[in-house]
Amino acid sequence: MDCLFCSIIKGEIPSTKVFENEWVYAFKDINPMAPVHVLAVPKVHISGADGITADNSSCVAKIFEAIPEIARISGLKNGYRVITNCGPDACQSVPHLHFHILGGTQLPDSLC
Ligand code: 5GP
Ligand code: ZN
Repeated sequence: MDCLFCSIIKGEIPSTKVFENEWVYAFKDINPMAPVHVLAVPKVHISGADGITADNSSCVAKIFEAIPEIARISGLKNGYRVITNCGPDACQSVPHLHFHILGGTQLPDSLC
């Protein structure tokens, strides 16, 4: 299967790694929307939030366990936003579950 983020996790496509453990890979977004913009992804391929099931949801917990460490490494001392886009209405462009971690400035008010 051809998946951009699976290729990044495998090192076939270069990325700027911020954090890695057995379950999670986190790297800088290529097109940052804030001074800090990191993507945290599960090492297993899951298409997006719609692909989370009782059998694979533990990797989501692993990502959220890693997020405070990723924020600390990234110097986010005053808060941050975590976003996942799912499907066309949310403009998901890469069909591998990922969480945007955004911060380093006062972020604009958002829908949620
Ligand atoms: P989505 O729109 O699916 O929520 O987010 C996909 C994100 O992946 C975008 O913010 C985009 O900038 C980022 N992205 C797309 N291709 C690459 C890439 O090759 N390398 C990195 N580091 N980020 C990428
Ligand atoms: Zn993938």
